[in-house]
Amino acid sequence: MQVIVVGAGIWGLACAYACARRGDHVTVYDAGRVGDGASGGIVGALAPHVPDQWNPKKQFQFEALETAGAFWAEVDALSGMASGYGRIGRLQPLLSEKAVELAKARAMSAVDLWHGRYHWQLEDRPETMSESSAPFGVVHDTLSGRLNPAAATTALAAACRAKGVQVLESHAVVELANNSITGPWGTATADAVIVSAGVAGFDLIAPQTPLHPGTGVKGQAALLDLDMGDHPQIYADGVYIIPHANGSVAVGSTSENTWEADGTDDKLDTVIAKARAICPLLADAAVKVRWSGIRPKARRRDPMLGPVPNLRGVHAALGAFKIGFGLSHKIGDVVAAQIHGDPVEIPESFTLDWHMAK
Ligand SMILES: Cc1cc2nc3c(=O)[nH]c(=O)nc-3n(C[C@H](O)[C@H](O)[C@H](O)COP(=O)(O)OP(=O)(O)OC[C@H]3O[C@@H](n4cnc5c(N)ncnc54)[C@H](O)[C@@H]3O)c2cc1C
Repeated sequence: MQVIVVGAGIWGLACAYACARRGDHVTVYDAGRVGDGASGGIVGALAPHVPDQWNPKKQFQFEALETAGAFWAEVDALSGMASGYGRIGRLQPLLSEKAVELAKARAMSAVDLWHGRYHWQLEDRPETMSESSAPFGVVHDTLSGRLNPAAATTALAAACRAKGVQVLESHAVVELANNSITGPWGTATADAVIVSAGVAGFDLIAPQTPLHPGTGVKGQAALLDLDMGDHPQIYADGVYIIPHANGSVAVGSTSENTWEADGTDDKLDTVIAKARAICPLLADAAVKVRWSGIRPKARRRDPMLGPVPNLRGVHAALGAFKIGFGLSHKIGDVVAAQIHGDPVEIPESFTLDWHMAK
């Protein structure tokens, strides 16, 4: 098939890669440069849902997290670059006796739901966390991972090129039509068009959808100068602390439904202060990077995949929101299967139809 992908963020590239693996001729069009959107970020937590009250969404994410290591190893090998992937696990503080009891129950259910391959285990507070941050110890899950978002996106673009994908930068798409896209550079046609332009993708498909498909949620994060090796990531007090392979630690993020300006402000200082209170090792670590981006949030929060109404051969892969990196390679496989007409199971809440139902 001839396939056009609109957007060179992590989802567009994952779709392009999955199609190229099937032998399709793929061209990616990006308005700016690879990773210009939310995917050019610095946090990169790949974290599971809690192992109880199982449902198709949790299963989908489990399968994505479980296969992430093999996928990113393939990308690293093909690109000759480093995505920064590592299954480092995650620590979450226990704040009460009640939380301890709940964690014990989840430790049991994780054995079945995670097939004994990963654990949800109770541990004493590590020395890297302050006493006040984890008064009843921590839960350590061994399924969570991390990657370096900007590096992973660059590596995936290189892997796509190695598979024969053409990635066209500075090629904005302003209009969609049956099997085609148009921009200031002209018009291109294909058997299938995949719209994966992050938050701007919602506006591209909005003329065809009965309800506005989605919006942006701003996030701010920082990179601190400290090498914590493969210490598990920490999620506490609403803040992620992610040790990266390149000797830095990411802390984030804010979640802002409205904002006055792009860039970072004092809300990020609050996040950094919280992270330092949780992990005193960070107290003297210099802030190397302050970063902000806009997450694409579909109108009912979950990913939005499927044919765009009223347009032949145009498919949405939108709504990566806060979990875009953890799901990316599986989303790519699903979307490639969908445009090829192959049977594929996804949670109902991931379908464009579901988002438009209310
Ligand atoms: C502060 C912050 C922290 C985050 N932390 C995590 C985390 O820990 N773990 C996680 O999994 N996710 C995290 N996310 C979310 C993650 O970054 C997103 O889910 C993901 O990057 C979205 O990828 P995307 O490909 O859908 O969109 P984007 O990365 O935004 O890519 C869209 C692309 O489309 C291009 N484009 C836009 N308009 C057009 C057009 N008209 N024509 C052509 N191209 C166009 C853009 O230039 C861009 O390259 C975080 C996000 C933020 C902001």
